[in-house]
Amino acid sequence: MTTGLDAILKPRSIAVIGASRMSNTIGHQIFANLLRYGFTGAAYPVNPNASSIQSVRAYPSVGALPEPIDLAVIVVPKERVLDVARTCGQSGVRGLVVISAGFREIGGVGVDRERQLMDIVRQYDMRMVGPNCMGVLNTDRGVSMNATFAPAMPPPGRAAFVSQSGALGLNVIDHAAEYGIGISQFVSVGNKPDVSGNDLLEYWEHDPTVGVILMYVESFGNPSHFRELASRITRTKPIIAVKAGRSRVGARAASSHTGALAASDVAVDALLTQSGVLRAESIEELFDMAMAFTGRPLPRSRRTVVITNSGGPAILAADALESRGLELVELQPATVTQLKPLFPEEASIRNPLDMIASATPADYRTALDAVLRDPNVDSALAVFVPPLGIRQEDVAESIVTVAATHVQKPVLAVLMGSAGLPQGRAELHKAGIPAYVFPESAARGLAALRRQREWTARPVGSPPVIQVDRARATRALAGSCANGKRKLGELEALELLAAYGIPVAESRLAVSPEEAARIAAELGFPVVLKAVAPELVHKTEVGGVRVGLTTPVDVATAAAEMANALARAMPEARLRGFLVQEMITGGRETIAGMSRDPAFGPLLMFGLGGIYVEALKDVVFRVAPIQPLDAHDMVRGIRALPLLEGVRGAPPVDFSALTDVLLRISQLAVEHPEITELDVNPLLAFPGGVKAVDARVLIAASD
Ligand code: ADP
Ligand code: MG
Repeated sequence: MTTGLDAILKPRSIAVIGASRMSNTIGHQIFANLLRYGFTGAAYPVNPNASSIQSVRAYPSVGALPEPIDLAVIVVPKERVLDVARTCGQSGVRGLVVISAGFREIGGVGVDRERQLMDIVRQYDMRMVGPNCMGVLNTDRGVSMNATFAPAMPPPGRAAFVSQSGALGLNVIDHAAEYGIGISQFVSVGNKPDVSGNDLLEYWEHDPTVGVILMYVESFGNPSHFRELASRITRTKPIIAVKAGRSRVGARAASSHTGALAASDVAVDALLTQSGVLRAESIEELFDMAMAFTGRPLPRSRRTVVITNSGGPAILAADALESRGLELVELQPATVTQLKPLFPEEASIRNPLDMIASATPADYRTALDAVLRDPNVDSALAVFVPPLGIRQEDVAESIVTVAATHVQKPVLAVLMGSAGLPQGRAELHKAGIPAYVFPESAARGLAALRRQREWTARPVGSPPVIQVDRARATRALAGSCANGKRKLGELEALELLAAYGIPVAESRLAVSPEEAARIAAELGFPVVLKAVAPELVHKTEVGGVRVGLTTPVDVATAAAEMANALARAMPEARLRGFLVQEMITGGRETIAGMSRDPAFGPLLMFGLGGIYVEALKDVVFRVAPIQPLDAHDMVRGIRALPLLEGVRGAPPVDFSALTDVLLRISQLAVEHPEITELDVNPLLAFPGGVKAVDARVLIAASD
C-alpha cells in the first residue's frame, strides 16, 4: 500500500471520479491523459451513468472497484464532493486530488464545504491536493502519470514544480519543452488546506528524481516553516520562486518607521533571500533561471567570458552580466597569443571576444575551447547572430562539441536568429547546454548559477545567544504598561536598548526648564534637549529637538521656547518634560529597527538614517532571528554603503558594532513578542563604535 504523498505522486492505481464520455469535459480529459501518456498503474473511470469510458470498463462508485486504490481524482460537481470523498475514505483510498472548485475561494458556503472536506480527509487519514486545482503529474518512467488536463506531457527531467495557480502551472508545462526544461513532477496545489508548498518541499527534498524546485507562490501559509525547510534544501537543490504581489511596494506613504517601510513584499523578499531561494521577477525569468540549472555544474567563481560574432549583443551581454555580479575577466596572455593569429585584424581578442561576422562554426569551436581552457575563466557565454551563409544549427553543434570536453565549466548559448532556432536549441538542450534567444536572459541564467554557488559555499550559521540584562529590560518595559500607554517613554526606550547592551547616549529626564539646566550642568556641555510627550512622533518637526546647547541659561531658555513651540504646533500634546542628553558629534546616521508582521514575524531593518530615510528608502530587511552573516549582509546591503565605508578619506565606520546592534535587536524582538515596533533613528556610527540617541518602541495593547 502506498501512503503519504506517495499515494498522490507515485500511485499504483488511480480512479477518476467523474470521468466522462464527453470529450470536451475535464473529467474526460484527465482520464484520457492517464491513458495517452501511459500511466504505469491501473486507471479506473468512475461514473454511474456509463458502462465504459474510452474503451475502459467504468464503475458506478469507488466502492464497486475491484481493488483498493491509492489515488482518487475527483472531478464531480462541488455539491457531490463531500459524499464522494467520504466513500473514498471508506473504501481505503489513500490520496485525493480534488479538481472541483466551489470551496474557500468562493467564500460563504464554500468555506464551510472546505472545512467539512478536510474533516473527512483527516477522519480517514488520507492526504489531499486541492480542491480547486488542476491536477498532478509525474514523468518518472516508473509512474508516467499525467493526472491533469494539460494538452501535453512535459519532457521528463529534474525540475519539480508547485504552482498556486493551476492555469499558470499548465502554461509552464506547455512551454517546458521549448526551453529544454525537463519536469519531474508538477503539483497544482489549489486552495491547499492539506497538501501545501511546504509539504512538497519536504517531499522533494528526499526525492532523488528532483534536482531543482520551481514555485509559483501567491501566499505563504507558514513562513517560518518555509524558511526552515528552504534554507536547508537550497544547500543541495536550488529553489526558484516567482512570488506574485510585488506591486504594493512603494505604495506605502513615506515615513521614517520600519512599520511603514516594511510593506509585506519586503518580508517576502527577506524571507526568500535568507532561505537562499532565487526569486524570479517573472515567469520569463523563472524559465531563464530554471534552464540554467539543466545539467551543468555550478561555476566555481564569478569570472566569466563572452564570445560572439557581433559587438552589440556582446556589449548587452557584458552589461547584463556585470550588473548581476559576474565578472568579465581578462584572458590570460597565452590565450590571446593563441587566438590572435587565427582571426582577422578587426576581431577583438579580449573579453568580450568578438570574432566578427565572418566567424565560422569552426571558429566558434576554436575560440570556445581556448577560453574554456583559460584558468582565469570559470564559465562562458557563446552568443551568435546569424550572418548570411552560416547556419545556426552548425554553430550549436560546435558549442556542443566543445562543451563536452569542458564539463566542469558551465557554458550557456545565445542563438539570436530565428532560422534554425528550434533545431539549434534542441541540440544544445539535449547536451545540457541552456540556449537563450536574448543575451539578457542568458545573463539572468548565469547569475542564478552564481548565486546558487555562493549560497552553497556560505557557512551555515545560527543566531548567537547574547547575555543581556533581563531584569533591566523588564523594568523598562513595565513602566509603560503600568499606565496603559502603547508607546514607551523616551527614556524607557533608551533604557531597553541599554539593557540589551546597545550603547546609548547618556540621557536624563527633567520636568521643568530649571531642572533641565541643572541636569545639563551635571552631564557636562554641550547637551541636546528634547521635548517628551507621548503624542510626538517626529520631535524635530515641531521644534522639539535643540542640539548644541552650551550653558545652563541656554538650556533653560531652549526648554521654555520648546514648550511654547509645542503648544502652538500640537495643542493636543501633553508635555511630560525634557530629555537632556549628551551631545554626540561626528557620527554617520543610520537607522536600525524592527516591525512585527503578523504572518512573517519580526522584520528587522537597517538603513541610512536621519532625514534621508524617507527620501531614499535605502533600507534592507531580514526576518528575525538573524545570524551574524545576515547582519553582515544587511549592513553591507544598502546603496549608501560607500558613505559608511568612508568617502574622501573619511575612515570607515565600525561595521562590527553595527552588526552587533542588529543581532541584539533581533534577540530583543524574539524574546519580547509584546514589542510590535522599534526604531533606533539615528543610530550614530563612528570609526570606533556606535551610539543610539533616539529610540521609539511600541508595545501591543495587553487587552
Ligand atoms: P526626532 O527623530 O523625533 O525628530 P531625534 O531625537 O532623532 O528626534 O533628533 C533629531 C536629530 O537631531 C537626529 O537625527 C540627530 O541628527 C540630532 N540629534 C538628536 N540627538 C542627538 C544627540 N544626542 N547628539 C547629536 N545629535 C543629536
Ligand atoms: Mg529620530
